[in-house]
Amino acid sequence: MLKPLQAGMKAVLVVCDGLGDRPTKTLNGLTPLQAANAETFDRIASEGECGIMDVIAPGQPPGSDTAHLALFGYDPFKCYPGRGAFEALGVGIELQPGDVAFRCNFATIDSDGVVIDRRAGRISSEEARKLSEALKEIRIEGVGGVEAIFHHSSEHRGVLVLRGEKLSRCVSDVDLHRVGVKVPDPKPLEGSIEAERTAKALKEFLEKARRILADHPVNRARIKRGLKPANVLLPRGAGTLPEIEPISKVWGIRGAAIAGGGLYKGVARAVGFDLIRVPGATGTVNTNLRGKVEAAMKALDEYDFVFLHVKATDNVSHDKNPRKKVEVIEWISRELAPLVDKVSDRGFYLALTGDHTTPSEIGEHKGDPVPLAIMGPDVRRDDVSKFDELSCARGVICRIRGVDLMRILMNYLGRVPLFGE
Ligand code: ZN
Ligand code: ZN
Repeated sequence: MLKPLQAGMKAVLVVCDGLGDRPTKTLNGLTPLQAANAETFDRIASEGECGIMDVIAPGQPPGSDTAHLALFGYDPFKCYPGRGAFEALGVGIELQPGDVAFRCNFATIDSDGVVIDRRAGRISSEEARKLSEALKEIRIEGVGGVEAIFHHSSEHRGVLVLRGEKLSRCVSDVDLHRVGVKVPDPKPLEGSIEAERTAKALKEFLEKARRILADHPVNRARIKRGLKPANVLLPRGAGTLPEIEPISKVWGIRGAAIAGGGLYKGVARAVGFDLIRVPGATGTVNTNLRGKVEAAMKALDEYDFVFLHVKATDNVSHDKNPRKKVEVIEWISRELAPLVDKVSDRGFYLALTGDHTTPSEIGEHKGDPVPLAIMGPDVRRDDVSKFDELSCARGVICRIRGVDLMRILMNYLGRVPLFGE
């Protein structure tokens, strides 16, 4: 049985996506964190305890979804329900047990059905929203008792949910992540009736979507302007609602999440955080970071635990821009200053880390550990005074796994019951 939370015991978890890096030629052998002049990051390291963290397992490149499940204390090898579910929760769909959700791209195929652009010429959100409206009319007729729900998320992205009895997430991806290939039909990945029904319903939805998109005024106008039409939907990442206990039950805390990207909002909702919406929080380098930090400070008055996610570090890493990553790190560090002041003044705890390493000269997620620093009134301060991959490795936390972080923070908040007598 959990004891009631002691007043004033609160913690913030700041995750900069794809923060970890490797030595770069561009920065004379330094990582962007080493090269950055990030005062607030370094303050957290100096006033806290440091370490490095294998978010999933040593050497395992994490996806952002599995990484965040681990950071919130859930073993992703046991409870990863597929990305689609998080996308659906992230756009505000009230996912029900049994629903199967897919992440979808609006894309362009030629007359032979070959994919020529996976993002439909980077179609605007406004156009994609109009197309999405038209797709809401689709009814599944060939598979009894199945309903299709389609939502636009951002730019060329959308979410499809199949709802009804006897469905399964064991169906193949239609999006093969490649251009120059014919769009495949979805196939059941196991011999079950559920997988077969799901593949059949999905196929019907996609065929009907193609017919609607082919003739839609938005696409006709795009063709006239010499742009690629969004004439096909490419679903992937079939997922269901994860069967996990919410953080409120596991730790007896109330959590709030502040994030721009739909996926992060989705994972946060799946584990029971309340979402705090911040205007202009976009999940890009143009996000309203100041607004997010202010929202986090305010949320601390009401919640026990606040999760603040910043995506920009990962975006510039995928763009293979180490210099820009340095700039983004310095910007985040500056903007965090008032939050760190408040945490320090009030005797709260704050953890700063990344969800994975995205080396900015490679542009993809790798399995190297990420730096971690935790500050708080009574943490064992080590002598690390710079927040980067190598300095943090000399700290007293040493090397841990992502799934351990939440317990460490909850121990500081007095939320971890005694094991044994
Ligand atoms: Zn990530
Ligand atoms: Zn990434």
